[in-house]
Amino acid sequence: MLPDERPVYLDQQISDNVARVQQRIAGAAEAAARRVEDVQLVGVSKYVGVVESAALLAAGCVDLGESRPQQLWDKAGESSLATAQWHLIGHLQRNKVRRTLPLVQLIHSVDSERLLKTIDENARQIDRKARVLLEVNCSGEKEKHGLSADKLKRLLEVAPGYDHVSICGLMTMAARQGGERTAAENFRKLRLLRDEVGKDCSSEISLEELSMGMSRDFEVAIREGATIVRIGSLLFDGIEK
Ligand SMILES: *Cc1c(COP(=O)(O)O)cnc(C)c1O
Repeated sequence: MLPDERPVYLDQQISDNVARVQQRIAGAAEAAARRVEDVQLVGVSKYVGVVESAALLAAGCVDLGESRPQQLWDKAGESSLATAQWHLIGHLQRNKVRRTLPLVQLIHSVDSERLLKTIDENARQIDRKARVLLEVNCSGEKEKHGLSADKLKRLLEVAPGYDHVSICGLMTMAARQGGERTAAENFRKLRLLRDEVGKDCSSEISLEELSMGMSRDFEVAIREGATIVRIGSLLFDGIEK
């Protein structure tokens, strides 16, 4: 099957899913007395191939997130996905920065000064300012990536020295266990931390974005101030992967 020969049912199912998710985003924004325009949907396409990703794009979900750099590189090279705006949401190794940087509009997962430095050097070489978020571990789970509050503060102190990187905000993932209540606590922690460190950091850094919330907890995240939600599974409901 050619990438632009998608079965009708696929486009139908995915556009229904996108509409349903967008409606829920709007509902959650309204309930929190927030503007729906202030919550951006990143469709996480890591579960599916090029054809399904293209259906997501055709359904109006232009911002696509991948967690593995290699998969992002492959998809970004596909003509049927040429209009996508790519987000790297997973762990980035330093040796993959050079190839990733020109393809993405936002890296959600910077969690060390070494990585920030490598991104800065590569951005300088291609005469760009790289947009990144700093990933924070708000759940305390050991297996999760992300900075502690203290390390975040230290990184923000040295960040102004990296002038080819623009730090736009923070990202986190809620604990796997504990349901909505724990997720809400994790998300609130990120927002309060942002409010706290945002006051102290250099005037060139504006930590406006809060990337938090996935399929199972995005409404809670919106209530706690998410400006970007990263949703995968719900968008592919009813699709064979
Ligand atoms: C996979 C993934 C998501 C999407 O998760 P769903 O539960 O499928 O919506 C969001 N963020 C990150 C970092 C991910 O790896």
